[in-house]
Amino acid sequence: MKTYVVGNWKMNFTVGEASIYLHKIQRKLPNYRDVAVIVAPPMIALQSLSLQVDVHKLKLAAQNGFYRDYGAYAGETSFSQMVGLVDYAIIGSGERRYVFGEDDKVIARKVSAALRNKITPILCVGETESERAYGETADVLRDQVLSGLRDVSKEDINKVMIVYEPIWAISSEESSKLASIDEVTDAVKFIRNVLKESFDEGDDVPVLYGGSVNPSNAGAYLTIPGVNGVLVGGSSLILSEFLDIIEIAKRVQR
Ligand code: PEP
Repeated sequence: MKTYVVGNWKMNFTVGEASIYLHKIQRKLPNYRDVAVIVAPPMIALQSLSLQVDVHKLKLAAQNGFYRDYGAYAGETSFSQMVGLVDYAIIGSGERRYVFGEDDKVIARKVSAALRNKITPILCVGETESERAYGETADVLRDQVLSGLRDVSKEDINKVMIVYEPIWAISSEESSKLASIDEVTDAVKFIRNVLKESFDEGDDVPVLYGGSVNPSNAGAYLTIPGVNGVLVGGSSLILSEFLDIIEIAKRVQR
């Protein structure tokens, strides 16, 4: 399986800045066959970047999308409107769940809508700090994986990607808040078991890790058995760091 490096730019960059940044990435990025690089720019830049992207080097993702295809849903953008612009969509990221209050039902509908429009959903799951403290991590992960994939058939399971993204480890500057290798190993193993129990397989589903990934810890996370890549927020906004993480992914490729 390929190793995935997904950069989530979140609400950063104007359209012009996003274009310059993509240009810089593409100029420096080798064309790797076994490392899939995906970037998720702000929605407003997707159309212009879709004309600029060198699809041999990287692919574009949306950071979100709405589950209806058309209609009176002011301010929303549907996955059907993104067809031809993106290949992937990040769904249920920590911010969508905990800043914008998206629940598992909404997230499940978004996963189905993305699949319906032939966009690969990158479903994020992860526990909060207090859920971990109360020993609820496994229950939360099982619930989020099963409800997020509620409407996904066994035939379609290999068309999704999952990110283990512990909420407490997102954009952390304190090293004590970094997820340990053991914590990520256990969570990813657990997610794979849930996939196996519910879909009979799941070994072909890429499972990524996300949470304060940077060039100094990417190698350790990427060598965890069962981890097929990383979702990178803050570090993906710094050209040298993002390129370094991609190089590390290339080196550890199995
Ligand atoms: C994210 O929220 O997608 C993320 C993983 O961010 P960061 O790398 O900044 O923790």
